[in-house]
Amino acid sequence: MQAQNDVLIGVPLCSRCRLRAAVGNLRVFWDGRMYCSDCLDTALPGLASYLQSHSEFHDVVPCDARAVIAGLIRRNTWAVALLVLIFMAASAPRIVAAGDLIALILAGALLGACAFALGLLTIYPILQLEKMRGPREYTVTKGVVFCRTPLFSRQFDLKECEWSYEKAGNPWRAEFTLPRVPMVVLWHRRFGNWGSYLREPCGLNADARELWIALLGLANVQRRKN
Ligand SMILES: [Zn+2]
Repeated sequence: MQAQNDVLIGVPLCSRCRLRAAVGNLRVFWDGRMYCSDCLDTALPGLASYLQSHSEFHDVVPCDARAVIAGLIRRNTWAVALLVLIFMAASAPRIVAAGDLIALILAGALLGACAFALGLLTIYPILQLEKMRGPREYTVTKGVVFCRTPLFSRQFDLKECEWSYEKAGNPWRAEFTLPRVPMVVLWHRRFGNWGSYLREPCGLNADARELWIALLGLANVQRRKN
């Protein structure tokens, strides 16, 4: 383990500042390495004492049916608006030349209404799928992230991840069905170095988000720019 490597002549070192710490001042963190209290509290004030009562890090991302519906309606509305715009742009020259603007507007409205209704029909099955997927429960300990839902569970090494911070208003966020709040997204390879990235949304509440950011910073997990 990494914690065993951070030792100099039998004296444990902090993995961050590389200084020898007083006995009892070094703590094994969730990434499996040891840090002194100063480095922990620099990453996040109060983290050293928090760690005393939390040997593992837990975070739960809830399944929010209202957010699922709102996200789907939002996407549906944008898709319909784009469809109607393309239709109007393609049909306008001929219909305007024929002098029948009202027919163009009515046709656009009819197309929009039909497309919107069809889009709404997709919401129910997607909502059921999201409910089945349920909350995501994350546990981080010894450098490994465990992700569990009612449908699946998986685990991956923290050091093989990248991460990004997504603002609340980002329309292309990783999980559009989640509430529109800032979040941390973990990116990890599905099949080692050759697979596509899986995105794990986490840190939806402010406390958990701060802890994730402190953890990822101390563990030197690469941050993606977005
Ligand atoms: Zn230190």
